[in-house]
Amino acid sequence: MRQVLIFDTTLRDGLKSPGTILTIEEKVRIASQLARLNVDVLEVGFPAASQEQYAVVERVSREISGPIITALARATNPRDFEIAWKTIRASERPRLHTFAPISKEYREHFLKKDAHQAVEISVAAVKTARKYTPDVEFSLVDAFRADPKEVLEMVRSVVDAGATVVNLADTVGRATPSDVAVLFRLLREGIDQFGNVTFSIHCHNDLGMAVSNSLAAVMEGATQVHCTVNGIGERAGNTPLEELVAALSTRSDLFGAESRIHLDQIYPSSRLVRRLTGVNLQPHKPVVGSNAFFYASDVPQFADATDKPPYEIMHPEKLGIQKTGELLSSRTTLAELRNRFEELGYDLSSERLQECYSAFQELAMKKEQIFDADLELLVNTMAVMEPAPFNLLYLKVNAGSISVPNATVQMEVNGEVLQDSGFGHGPVDAAFKTIMKMTRRQPRLVRYSVGAVTPGTDAQGEVSIRIEEGSHLVNGRGADTDIVLASAKALVDALNKLERVREEAVIYEFTDEESWLPKL
Ligand code: MN
Repeated sequence: MRQVLIFDTTLRDGLKSPGTILTIEEKVRIASQLARLNVDVLEVGFPAASQEQYAVVERVSREISGPIITALARATNPRDFEIAWKTIRASERPRLHTFAPISKEYREHFLKKDAHQAVEISVAAVKTARKYTPDVEFSLVDAFRADPKEVLEMVRSVVDAGATVVNLADTVGRATPSDVAVLFRLLREGIDQFGNVTFSIHCHNDLGMAVSNSLAAVMEGATQVHCTVNGIGERAGNTPLEELVAALSTRSDLFGAESRIHLDQIYPSSRLVRRLTGVNLQPHKPVVGSNAFFYASDVPQFADATDKPPYEIMHPEKLGIQKTGELLSSRTTLAELRNRFEELGYDLSSERLQECYSAFQELAMKKEQIFDADLELLVNTMAVMEPAPFNLLYLKVNAGSISVPNATVQMEVNGEVLQDSGFGHGPVDAAFKTIMKMTRRQPRLVRYSVGAVTPGTDAQGEVSIRIEEGSHLVNGRGADTDIVLASAKALVDALNKLERVREEAVIYEFTDEESWLPKL
């Protein structure tokens, strides 16, 4: 079996999903889960873009072991390489990733250069990167709209210059599997070094073909695929990691290739990314959607329950889906809780475990069965205890068919404890208006959705909101068995994120000539 390397870009390209603002702690948490999932390459940011991205890449390089850690640098900016290298040099296996546009459209718009000049820039960039590290990935931006002869020339030149990984990006998401096959075949036949270089693909899902395109590349010799967890990313997103990996594993007979992904970490990874980014999944999403393994009751049932149903092509239990026998309750002991957390990938200190156990017991008084999703909420809510400008201390609402809904809120606003109350059209509206009055913020609420984390009327409600202020768009999330309280938590979460985006400092000033942004 050939190995297909999984290059995860959830924390770089994936976070271009509108409104996904994560703290450094949250990004490091996702990175450590991705290492547990056993991705081969981790791309966690574009260090020259901001102080915050610099800090994340640097921390992940120091703290996460296992995957290759890579950082992005623009081909035209020597300073990007210096900055990127500083962030990754502490990692076990650092890789520099640089890129340049090859299609006429992208070259002229972003680079204002012809194909020949673009090749020269790319060769120089690879040589610069090689001064820092022997592992250099070069990406051709918008490769599938470009002239194939120019693609071939650029690939040949960067390989000669020392690139060890060559990645073709379908930046705009217009390629089809046959386009991909044709171009990879051309490279396989036209590049003498094809077998000595890792060929890779980066797809976008605008036409719903990101997985198919990636698999077409694998069939034609690519040995690395760029993915994001849940397929998050700008527009229609990137290649969903879980779908690609499930296809490789289910149809290994056809692809003759496998990934090193630990399948039992697929569900925990998907849930973590969903929770921290606030990007929800459609119920019928392949592999990780809530209906993906839920069979309608009119499907014929079979007498022998131990038989695998003939309509099941994948084994959900291998993907880390929780079995009924693994549900926890108020009878669960501290040791059992520790075990479950370990299986879910949380290595907690005894002090933190004790805190979690107290919170767990409190929750177990409110609901009978505790699911993995509840445990993850619990540990993640407790983890996000970074100092924040706004903290909700107390909420009381009155609502019903007769009274005018009103809310009383106590909160800490920039270190000062305030209390106020207000009316609204419903309890959530009353709570929101009061919180906004107290924080003196008037963002526009562009989305509000509430869902149950687990089955049962005692389930925790998880509220996801999106607010907008000026050019800033952020998501907030909150969970509680009381959905009004969950809503208030979600709003406060979003308001805190809004404060953070406002403060984000840019360490790199774009100059005119180099003003093209990382678009890959
Ligand atoms: Mn991209």
